[in-house]
Amino acid sequence: MKYNTGKINQIAQKLAEVVKEAIEEEGQEQVLIGDVELAMREGLRQIGQQALACFLEAADEGVETEIPCACGGTLHYQRRRPATIWSVFGKVVYRRAYYAGCTCGKGVAPVDRRYGIEPGKVTSGLAHLLALSGIFKAFDDGRKWLKEFLLFEVSENTVRAETQKLGELQRQADEQLVKETQDEASLQRREQGQVPAPDILYGSLDAAKVRIEPRDEQEKAAENRENWRDLKAGCWYEGEIVSPRQQSTRQKNKAQRAGTVLRAKNKRYFCDIDQADQFGKLLWATACAVGADRARLLVFICDGAVWIWNLIAHYFPNAIQILDWYHAEDRLKRIAAEAFSNLTERQAWLAVVTEDLWQGNVEAVIAACQKLAKISTLAKQSLTYYSDNIERMRYAQFRAAGYLIGSGVIESGCKQIVTQRLKLPGAQWELDGAILTAKARAAWLSGNWQNLVSARSQLPLAV
Ligand SMILES: [Zn+2]
Repeated sequence: MKYNTGKINQIAQKLAEVVKEAIEEEGQEQVLIGDVELAMREGLRQIGQQALACFLEAADEGVETEIPCACGGTLHYQRRRPATIWSVFGKVVYRRAYYAGCTCGKGVAPVDRRYGIEPGKVTSGLAHLLALSGIFKAFDDGRKWLKEFLLFEVSENTVRAETQKLGELQRQADEQLVKETQDEASLQRREQGQVPAPDILYGSLDAAKVRIEPRDEQEKAAENRENWRDLKAGCWYEGEIVSPRQQSTRQKNKAQRAGTVLRAKNKRYFCDIDQADQFGKLLWATACAVGADRARLLVFICDGAVWIWNLIAHYFPNAIQILDWYHAEDRLKRIAAEAFSNLTERQAWLAVVTEDLWQGNVEAVIAACQKLAKISTLAKQSLTYYSDNIERMRYAQFRAAGYLIGSGVIESGCKQIVTQRLKLPGAQWELDGAILTAKARAAWLSGNWQNLVSARSQLPLAV
């Protein structure tokens, strides 16, 4: 945006005077730069408040005696009526031309309509910031934190409502996508206007437990009520090689073993709290949206959960299935810890089986676990785990083909959605609230935030 620097300079001069006066009025002994900054921010906020009101009042100068009503009737000018909005500058009251008297009984303020204003409500500019805090912090913490930035109070409920409103928009977008991909005609239309399909596309799925509060006394009283629900999350992404120059220390160590280091890019997350078959529809819908159905190679990297492999086999029978390397490796560590109290023996065993696993020699791993089955329950249990997933652990083969073998992407996605938000201290969830907050956060992680923000600013116009 371009501003008239001359005018900006005049305002700046004035602001400096006003702030100086205000500081002197306070009579504080020592005034440091922080005090000046804060005083100036408060001054700017008040200027914003006034300026927004001036701007909106100047916007409807040309008052007509009559305007057409949306119903086809006629609205008559009444008077300039005051309205209140909650903006990024705080509460703003402005007066604007108001029309009523149509037979349909509706009243209209053209300025509100023109700018997408809902009188009495939060503006989309403020809503954006409230929701941003809401996907990172518990709502009450967010409220305190926002005050430091905004210099005025907002309520916990407002932060919650605005966060979930964006989540609701993401849910509607998800539902729309599911609807389109269940419908043959829309699928065909999509085929015609295709975006280029990625060459190799990765997918990962995971789940994490979220505690849902009982809704009422009756639910609270119900015995053995299952309060924990699975938040299922998925991610589509592509792999790219990290150049030696960009590698972190951890990645350099990894490079020594693996040759090249791959990382995920273009991550697109989706999530829901729902049954596996319903979640499967969202999986398929998002797959179509990213062109997964048309990628030359589709590679799934997941942990061992059965529902996950079932969904993949159902929707993507030709995809390559890889059991996440870190899960498979971590299990060996846990077996070693259970089976050997002697550290040297433990490390010696672990070194051998980890190398076997790395080479994709799962048969050798199974044989090694078999030998420990008598002294380690986990080793015994793991026999099924390794044999059920044997073809998903041919790591040497996968590496040779240049695939990623770890699902760190979705692990971190689940962690960012669930652990770092839904499980924050002070977080209490009703089912819908948990879903909507998770969806809003997933949109942020996927780089889809701006789309939600613009959809949010269009909301009042759709009424
Ligand atoms: Zn009307």
